[in-house]
Amino acid sequence: MNDHKVHKIGVLTSGGDAPGMNAATRAIVRTATYYGLDIIGFMKGYYGLVHNEFIELNNRSVSNTIQRGGTFLRSARCQEFRTEEGRKQAARNLEQLGVDTLLVIGGDGSLRGAHLLTEVWQGQVIGLPGTIDNDLAGTDYTIGFFTALDTALDAIDKLRDTADAIDRVFIVEVMGRMAGFIAQGVGIGGGAEEIIVPEYAFDIDTISEHIELAKNKGKVSFIMVLAEGAYEGGAMVLSQVLTEKTGIACRPCVLGYIQRGGSPAALDRILATKLGAYSVEAALQGVSGVMVGLINKELSLTPLEKTWTEKKPLDAYLEKIQPILAQ
Ligand code: ADP
Repeated sequence: MNDHKVHKIGVLTSGGDAPGMNAATRAIVRTATYYGLDIIGFMKGYYGLVHNEFIELNNRSVSNTIQRGGTFLRSARCQEFRTEEGRKQAARNLEQLGVDTLLVIGGDGSLRGAHLLTEVWQGQVIGLPGTIDNDLAGTDYTIGFFTALDTALDAIDKLRDTADAIDRVFIVEVMGRMAGFIAQGVGIGGGAEEIIVPEYAFDIDTISEHIELAKNKGKVSFIMVLAEGAYEGGAMVLSQVLTEKTGIACRPCVLGYIQRGGSPAALDRILATKLGAYSVEAALQGVSGVMVGLINKELSLTPLEKTWTEKKPLDAYLEKIQPILAQ
């Protein structure tokens, strides 16, 4: 029997979906039932919370889900939840359902929403970092990041096969409006000649010189990885600008939504499982208004607000060595 304050958990996946969200949900459900807790899943993120759309969950509802991409609870964006009235409606629904703990798996927007919910609802709210962007402070990695890297790397490897002459410069645009984690990871893992991220300033003339220098050195291909937010107009515009400047055809390749798809990589499954189980155990310890994360292999709790106000830095060492490796 359960002698804690927690009796009924609600879980939802929100915002951009990320591979590993199912693995997190599975771990949450199995851990909750182990501790004798009831658990329901709200469908389509905050939409299901505001509109009372949910399903009862048990150990069998999460069978055969750990390896699946996407999220079986579905995800969505919900404008109503951005209003106080929407959040108050969500709070009323939670009260009526007897839910005392809400677990939110999502990115910074979802965690902002979770934080605001704590102002109108007395229950416990705990966030889990579920986003391919890896742009949340309070955890070294977010659920979905490793898979997104693998997916994008697969595409780059294929481009490398076709970029067999220096008149083939490819500018590969990856996700990351405000953060360059995917671009840096993919660029390093794919051996890119150039990596452009929002965190570091860059100069078109210098990049043009790099392309020309590579050609003179006899490099057979030149791959540039661009985070979508690092250049206005993205790879489409940058490729035109660089083609004009260098006289060498620079071709854009926008990876887009394929980066969100796919079966979760091993590290995402393990991270999601660990954080899913821990979120339930943290709830049982009575914590609220925090995100669970992993910092230097240690499980951690970070106030929700800090996860988006604090800027997580890119890997400075990778930044330093990248030009050396691209020689
Ligand atoms: P992600 O969680 O992947 O960053 P979004 O930014 O789209 O995705 O956020 C997902 C949902 O979280 C939004 O549709 C909205 O319901 C809620 N949300 C986002 N930002 C806020 C906010 N500032 N206040 C309240 N709710 C928010």
